[in-house]
Order: sequence, then C-alpha cells, then structure tokens
Amino acid sequence: MAELANCPRCNSLFMKGQATVCRDCVKQEEEEFQTVYAFVRQKKNRTATVPEIVRETGVAEYKIRDFVKAKRLHPSQFPALAYSCEKCGADIQEGRICEACAVDLQRVIQKQEEIQNALERNEKEDAGPVTYYSIKGKER
Ligand SMILES: [Zn+2]
Ligand SMILES: [Zn+2]
Repeated sequence: MAELANCPRCNSLFMKGQATVCRDCVKQEEEEFQTVYAFVRQKKNRTATVPEIVRETGVAEYKIRDFVKAKRLHPSQFPALAYSCEKCGADIQEGRICEACAVDLQRVIQKQEEIQNALERNEKEDAGPVTYYSIKGKER
C-alpha cells in the first residue's frame, strides 16, 4: 500500500509505493543511467573503469556501481566495470562478496561445523555417565 514517506535521496515527501525513492530521483537516476550507458556504449569506452566513467560523466561512483550490481550494466559487455564486495569493498563482477571473502566465509563455516561436530561428540560421551547415574538412581 502506498504511504507518505521522505525520499532517502533528496528528503522530499513522496508516496512510497514500489519505488523506494521519489519520482524526481527515479527520473534523475534514469537520466544518469542513460548518460553512463551512452558513454560506455561507445566502442572506445567499453573498457572504461568505474573511476573513468565518474570522471567523464560526473555520475556518482556508488550509482554506477549500483547499475552494475543491478545488472543494468553487465560486466560481460563492459569488462572493466565492477561493484563492491559487501564485506570488504573490493571490486567484484558477480555474486555479493569477493573471492577472498568467500574463502574466509567458507573457513568460518567449516570451523563452525567442526565445533558443532565436537560438541555433538562430547554430548555422546556425556551420555554415558548420565545413563549410569540414572540407573544408579533407580537402584536406590
Ligand atoms: Zn527524491
Ligand atoms: Zn571481499
């Protein structure tokens, strides 16, 4: 349902529906996308990096990275484009985190599994004495 909200970009009031920013900002963003797209579409600019595009178009870097992340500008078409890893901010072209962070994450998961396994093993070992005591209890 639409509700009145402040636009996170320009702070003006707007009816918040499907869009998360006001109509002016949507329009502005669309214009900026077209500017960036018109720039990278030129053959000589296909391999332009994000900082180069910022310099040439004046569009904010985070917005260009957002376009890449939203796959509006695709790295398969524009190989030098990238967006930021959600963990460390490194340039990436697919997924949400970079390879180094993926390896780290894998290590953390593995560690957690090891701890989990160790805990389960302990629980099984603990099960012995517990049974022993309960049997003893019954004997009394
Ligand atoms: Zn706005
Ligand atoms: Zn990373």
